Amino acid sequence: MVTSQLPLWSDKDATEGWSVRESQRARRLTVRVFHTGRVEVVVPSRTSPRAVERFLERHRPWIERKREEARRRAGPPVPFPPPQVALPACEEVWRVHLAGGSGRARLAAATPGLLALAGDANKGQPVRQALRRWLTERAREVLAPLLAQCARELGLRYERVLIRRQRTRWGSCSTRGTISLNCCLLFQRPAVVRYLMIHELAHTQHMNHSRRFWHCVARYCPEYRSLDRELLDGWRRVPDWVFGDEAS
Ligand SMILES: [Zn+2]
Repeated sequence: MVTSQLPLWSDKDATEGWSVRESQRARRLTVRVFHTGRVEVVVPSRTSPRAVERFLERHRPWIERKREEARRRAGPPVPFPPPQVALPACEEVWRVHLAGGSGRARLAAATPGLLALAGDANKGQPVRQALRRWLTERAREVLAPLLAQCARELGLRYERVLIRRQRTRWGSCSTRGTISLNCCLLFQRPAVVRYLMIHELAHTQHMNHSRRFWHCVARYCPEYRSLDRELLDGWRRVPDWVFGDEAS
């Protein structure tokens, strides 16, 4: 975090979720406005504060327009802890039961479809962490076998699968054949999840987004264009607790 570099236009900016992230890998300055209205600026290391300021000045109208859109789209505030967690990818809905008790929040799958949240449910951060741990675990249980099945159908091989919780990527495939899947895929439709898996498996053949790569994807998933668009928009279907109130 290099918040000290952040040129803020008003006090409101500081409270409405601006963050500046310094990145070793970034080649240029970028800015994203999330559906929640949160703004994230990614800054390559050794960029001068002045350059960041100029960049943001230039993009200010665009940022404001996006934030306005986000505000307009935002529905009523959702309760926390969430009364239930819906996972469209595997067509599950888990009810969250507040079991009471004291101490640090703990989460356990009591029976399929029922999560028992024990301990202090009023402290937001431990509850979010417990939910995230469970989400990653559930993603491993659901997504790993799906990927294996998908690979068998396509006759493609990968070495191993990692489940990650990332803000910006749905999946990736390394040159060594490791496929990473974002646990937030659980909040997407099965068809969208299948497309992402086909996409990553196709990377085991083509480590790029060339015409041949997309041919390979299209062979198994003819409607890949619309599904790719849906996935791009898929962050909107991720509940706030997955990333909320977390140092980035
Ligand atoms: Zn790709």
